Amino acid sequence: MRPAWLEVNLDTLAQNYHRLRHKAEGAQVIGVVKANAYGHGAVEIGKELLRLGAWGLAVATPQEALELRKAGVVGRILLLGSLHPEQARTVVELELIPSLSTLESAEALNALGRPVPVHLEFDTGLGRVGFAPEEAPLVQERLASYENLLIQGIYTHFANAEEDEEGSRDQMARFERVRQVFGPGYLYHACNTAGTLRFGAYGLGAVRPGIGLYGLLPAEGLRPIARLLAKPTQVKRVPPGQKIGYGGAYTAQGEEWIATLPVGYADGMPRQVFGRATVRYQPEGSPTPCVCPVVGRISMDQITVRLPGPVDLEQVFEVVTPDHSPTSSLWGWAELSGTTSYETAVRLSPRLPRVYLREGVEVARVE
Ligand SMILES: *Cc1c(COP(=O)(O)O)cnc(C)c1O
Repeated sequence: MRPAWLEVNLDTLAQNYHRLRHKAEGAQVIGVVKANAYGHGAVEIGKELLRLGAWGLAVATPQEALELRKAGVVGRILLLGSLHPEQARTVVELELIPSLSTLESAEALNALGRPVPVHLEFDTGLGRVGFAPEEAPLVQERLASYENLLIQGIYTHFANAEEDEEGSRDQMARFERVRQVFGPGYLYHACNTAGTLRFGAYGLGAVRPGIGLYGLLPAEGLRPIARLLAKPTQVKRVPPGQKIGYGGAYTAQGEEWIATLPVGYADGMPRQVFGRATVRYQPEGSPTPCVCPVVGRISMDQITVRLPGPVDLEQVFEVVTPDHSPTSSLWGWAELSGTTSYETAVRLSPRLPRVYLREGVEVARVE
């Protein structure tokens, strides 16, 4: 295996799952595993979520669903986003549950002549996809005429549940009108992670958390489930004045110990964190970890870090720590590079091997 890998802790995933489930007051959990489970590996995460009792999984593209089906996942898979009519056939073949936001896609799906469960999405304020709430009576009438479409669920999505409580409540008031049109008998859902933390399930049947399962919001005891680990490929002493990395952006002040770790921006480390990011390792016999600055520019495949002294090539470094450190976590990298932890997570490259642990023991490996 490459001496750089993503270690995913399935016990922490379970803790995050139960915490969100508890917040949702026992509503069903639709585990969002789009974008390779936010970089953590959709197959293993998806299987684990189903084992934990999730109602089903949600993905963004049929290709993502195909990967799950090929790996033997037979559980429910909700396809998020607005179905394009040309995706209808794949949905039926893979036995997915599509989200419908247009009558064109409903018609294309119905025309295939096979019964399909569908979820209807209503746009209550995000302004992206979804039927308009005012269209609910029309949508209900038209869908009733499509004999192959079985409405199983009805949902909406918040624009900013994290920061805008009032706006979110306005959205739910609009969604309530949709519920009045359709009535009981459907799985209604609205809350993503931030919505679940703020409102529970909002009295609905299910929640759709993504980021919180991976612990990437600094909130309510949710903990990151992954560490990015690497062993040095070279450790050397450099003389004062030695320039390090592309553009000579760092110059050694005195004699310094520099280790090269085989991870770079092609693995998902943002180039912008250079000069501010740190990595950690645990020196043998020391009670505290050693925090080392990343010096020199971040290359495509390698970074250089300054050590207090030599280490051997078996020393494991935490390039991403499982916390919300401002300099060595996915959340911290996001803060340093002006984006969100969603983006730093999904940038974790598929070329990194993923190692899955349960009770400290490796239970799966994906290379
Ligand atoms: C991505 C997504 C989610 C999950 O959102 P988080 O903020 O990651 O919890 C839920 N619902 C829809 C429609 C999504 O696209």
